[in-house]
Amino acid sequence: MALPYRWQWRIERWKKSLRTLFGGGDEQPRPKICPACGALVGISATRCHECGTSLTFSLAAASKSLGGLIGGETPITTLILTVNVLLFGVSLLATGRETGALNLFGSISGRILLRMGARQSIAILQGELWRLVMPIFLHAGLLHIGMNSLFFVDIGPQVERLYGSARYLFIYVFTGICSFIASTAWNLWIYGGYGIGIGASGALSGLIGILLAMTSRRGGAYARMMRSQMMRMVGYLVIMALLPIGVDNAAHFGGLAAGFLLGKVMMDREPLNSREHNRAYAMGWTAGIVVVACMVTMVVHYLRPS
Ligand SMILES: [Zn+2]
Repeated sequence: MALPYRWQWRIERWKKSLRTLFGGGDEQPRPKICPACGALVGISATRCHECGTSLTFSLAAASKSLGGLIGGETPITTLILTVNVLLFGVSLLATGRETGALNLFGSISGRILLRMGARQSIAILQGELWRLVMPIFLHAGLLHIGMNSLFFVDIGPQVERLYGSARYLFIYVFTGICSFIASTAWNLWIYGGYGIGIGASGALSGLIGILLAMTSRRGGAYARMMRSQMMRMVGYLVIMALLPIGVDNAAHFGGLAAGFLLGKVMMDREPLNSREHNRAYAMGWTAGIVVVACMVTMVVHYLRPS
């Protein structure tokens, strides 16, 4: 069976990292590139002679290894999609166990989503802040995750290439959290805290917001095309808000506003020098660690006898 080139390449990378892991270093050592400043460093160097970044233990080195392990040009988009699909699979199986019948096209049980970290405003007020992070990665059914993923694979890689993977992860998590803060406030005000909320669309609206801010500063054909595409997306969000279809408009417009404001203060290009690189890595790792901590809290909460 012929695998797509991208997967052949990825499998080669995995084999190679497994070989080095078990000490079978049969490969010729090659000069490396410093992940922080891009300088060429020696075969046995442990620290970059240009910018001083450690090549073994630093955020830059860890980011490079993680990016290499996931592979591809936009590893964070791949990682987020994988997490979304895995959590959807878990919620689907748990729903199947709860109802006694596995239905791929059915909706996910609200009780399961609540246990897995859905936005529940009263619980958030009582201190369960991980419920502002987990819902970014949860979905209510195949159609919900399908629609969001289609949009995500279209827009996500463009933002990841533009801002670099580390800043992109920060943008996604930050605007996602802002969207659920808006959603929580609105839900408390209008519905007195009743009900739950989930979905990536707040973070996705954040990506629309940041691209809008980026194109409002730049000229040229690409920016104009991107701008009209994003204006169309905002149009869809407004139409959805006017239709009685029960979407979380507070999350959409909260994420959109957060993304737009972030786009106004963030540099709309990949990091250039070691300082910018290291700052971007710090932002990306902070976002990543927040997500992992919330997932661990969710698992502890899920397994706790209720
Ligand atoms: Zn360097």
